[in-house]
Amino acid sequence: MRIVLLGAPGSGKGTQAKRLAERFGVATISTGDLLRAAVAAGTPLGQRVKAIMEAGELVPDALVLDLIRDRLAEAGPRGFVLDGFPRNLAQAEALDALLADQGLPLQAAVYIEVDPEEIVRRITGRRSCPACGAIYNVYSSPPAVDGRCDRCGAELTQRSDDNEDTVRNRLAVYERQTAPLVEHYRKQGRLITVSGRGDPEAVFEALVAALPKGD
Ligand code: AMP
Repeated sequence: MRIVLLGAPGSGKGTQAKRLAERFGVATISTGDLLRAAVAAGTPLGQRVKAIMEAGELVPDALVLDLIRDRLAEAGPRGFVLDGFPRNLAQAEALDALLADQGLPLQAAVYIEVDPEEIVRRITGRRSCPACGAIYNVYSSPPAVDGRCDRCGAELTQRSDDNEDTVRNRLAVYERQTAPLVEHYRKQGRLITVSGRGDPEAVFEALVAALPKGD
């Protein structure tokens, strides 16, 4: 499986990428997770990107492409699901070129469509587990015990860029730079659109049913 997940911040890309990884054994490559890990570890990359991420702007393409190149090389024969990459046309074209070199083009770009009004509520309600990566939402899919991960019991955290000001900018950046990718993949005949409304399990089943058959 070689797919890209497209959609606004908060559309559920991370949640769906994790489910795809669990069901199909594919590697999930989330540039947001990789960058957050670099910030948390205080690496030179992390120090460079921290303020950019907190402002909700995009990290320079060259830095993100370095991360992606390494991870794609590590993804096994079962393939990969990309979450949060590509984020603009230059990244999409770089990805096309990288995969063409390997003779393994993308199979699909899955666009998870969500109403804009729903997005802010989703993002501000989002909580995640720093220990195991599980994702919750205090409104729509809360943990059984307030503030604690159902799976491993760790204390849930909120992303520092999930505050209302940064969210507004992230949505503006999305509209300007990332939304045009829907057209890019439509032209390539690779676009699949799935409604992101409803509970994550139902979205997942609809997504799986819409995937092209084959490996
Ligand atoms: P995400 O977790 O995908 O919402 O990403 C969080 C933040 O990381 C974004 O707001 C950007 O600052 C940065 N980021 C993640 N992926 C990319 C990318 N492909 N290109 C540039 N910046 C990115």
